[in-house]
Amino acid sequence: MTNGITLPTAILMAIIISVLLFIAGISFLYTTTRSIQEKTILPMEEPEKSTVQQTMSPDEPALENITTADIPEIQRPPDCRDNYSCDFYFIFVPVGNWTDQKIFESVSKERSNFFIDISLFKFKKVGVIFIPVDFAQKCNVNKIHPAIARDHLTIKRCADKYVDMLGIDYERTIGIANEYVGGRAFFNSKSAYVTLGFKTAFGQQETPSLAAHELGHTYNLCDEYSQKEYNLQNHYLQYQTCRNQFPAECKSTENCLGNTPTYRDYSQEDVFNVCQGQVHYSVMGPSTSAECGYDTTGGYEAIGEVT
Ligand SMILES: [Zn+2]
Repeated sequence: MTNGITLPTAILMAIIISVLLFIAGISFLYTTTRSIQEKTILPMEEPEKSTVQQTMSPDEPALENITTADIPEIQRPPDCRDNYSCDFYFIFVPVGNWTDQKIFESVSKERSNFFIDISLFKFKKVGVIFIPVDFAQKCNVNKIHPAIARDHLTIKRCADKYVDMLGIDYERTIGIANEYVGGRAFFNSKSAYVTLGFKTAFGQQETPSLAAHELGHTYNLCDEYSQKEYNLQNHYLQYQTCRNQFPAECKSTENCLGNTPTYRDYSQEDVFNVCQGQVHYSVMGPSTSAECGYDTTGGYEAIGEVT
């Protein structure tokens, strides 16, 4: 018969329908389970997403995109010492008993900053060079006698030797000793000798202005604290005279404070024992903590006006 469904065909169809129903059932169960899982995960993720969005502005790059190349390098201002293009150099030589290069450089820097700031060198391209302690030890500068000219020459030779290697000339060299016995310089000299200060009844007095005082002598400035000293130094100068005048108000006074006003007061960071009080005196006077610059008297060209 052709118009009826035979029994085996009916069984086969029943099997196919059962299989289709089974697959449909499995698919339904899978879809339902997934949507339940998503629903339970979503509420937990949402607060996290919104926090991130709130803290980031639209233009801000994602954190993981920032690399070290994006962070601008902090630029150090150009220094004429980098390529030895300074017009004037001051060379500090560690004289006597130094063991710590950093301490030597730190006290030398304080003294050179003060000197440069109160003189016309403030407006020039100046480089300060600190000779390494182990280099200086080979220069026989371990025992320097302040009053002996030959010993001052030893300091100068050490500076000469060092700058020869760099191929530069220098304005002045300052031998600095790690003790407290004042300083000494010769007129018209290229070198000065200083220590860190003085010994007083109260102990050691740190005197950063001492380097400026002794450098002042090398530029033919005379002492302003005593007329006797001033006159003596004027005599030493022979065919020249002191470039500064003795303070008019101190004609018959010893321990004169020095000329005032000063050509230029120190204006940088605080230096202990310098530039205090209301009235500021010349560094060529005594060390009273009120010395703050070079004086303007005498008609001399201020230090730094050199060729
Ligand atoms: Zn002096």
